[in-house]
Amino acid sequence: MAAESESCNCSAWAANDPSGVLSPHSFNRRAVRHDDVSLRITHCGVCYADVQWTRNLHHDSVYPLVPGHEIAGVVTEVGSDVKGFKPGDHVAVGTYINSCRDCDNCNNLLENHCSNFVFTFNGVDTDGTVTKGGYSTHIVVHERYCYKIPDGYPLDKAAPLACAGITVYTPMIRHNMNQPGKSLGVIGLGGLGHMAVKFGKAFGLNVTVLSTSESKRDEAINLLGADNFVVSSDKNQMEVLNILISFKAECETTYNRPQQVHISLPYVRFQLKKHKCTKEQSSFCNRYCLYYFVRETINIAEFCLLFFSLCLYYVRITK
Ligand SMILES: [Zn+2]
Ligand SMILES: [Zn+2]
Repeated sequence: MAAESESCNCSAWAANDPSGVLSPHSFNRRAVRHDDVSLRITHCGVCYADVQWTRNLHHDSVYPLVPGHEIAGVVTEVGSDVKGFKPGDHVAVGTYINSCRDCDNCNNLLENHCSNFVFTFNGVDTDGTVTKGGYSTHIVVHERYCYKIPDGYPLDKAAPLACAGITVYTPMIRHNMNQPGKSLGVIGLGGLGHMAVKFGKAFGLNVTVLSTSESKRDEAINLLGADNFVVSSDKNQMEVLNILISFKAECETTYNRPQQVHISLPYVRFQLKKHKCTKEQSSFCNRYCLYYFVRETINIAEFCLLFFSLCLYYVRITK
């Protein structure tokens, strides 16, 4: 490790096999190009996607694998043509670090739908290199895929917004779930779910949390400020909400872990069908499902059902 690190410019935590164990690892980031931003990573969130690829649950992990795609840091260097950032700026990098920049999606700032977008880690960049993520000391990214964090905003709180936050925020905004007085249903109080509650309350919504477990009630109501809490496995409670019960989730396969979702599930089924979610595609479908789910349900009732249950932790990478 010592000899290796002498010739490498970036230190990281990497998985070397599917065990789930991360070990110190050193490698070289590319030199800053004319349109690149280099940032010193101060914080990186832990998303379940990190766990999935670390453990090779999708059978396409390339080891050594450096996870991390909820990155926050401080700009240390910018290329000669970079206009939007300067050294010292606080910046976030999310789930992708490149795309074709020339398709309809890219031209509409929907790069995450570009068929050639490149994941922040375990992706293959246009130069053929396998990308390495944010559990590392620094990262070099084209400025297009960097996002300014307002001065004074805590970097540890900014990091999870780069995946979990935007995943919830985008459909909420797209479907006008930022209008005070509307009702928001949040299924599962995990990483995304807790974001949805916080956004919902900030927007002045009436927020109901649906959880399989009574144990989340205190956190939902007292810590996050939700208005209502419903145990989704309780038929009586669910019927009060006029929500159909009993779902056997195809989600179990998409999530690669046991998951009980007791929600109305014609909606989910519809949405899965619409997305043509196959097992092969399923690794990425959670996010898209979320969009479609919201899109379809919102018209039926102003009851926006979000599901996802990720753990939210912060890992401090460097001082
Ligand atoms: Zn993520
Ligand atoms: Zn594109």
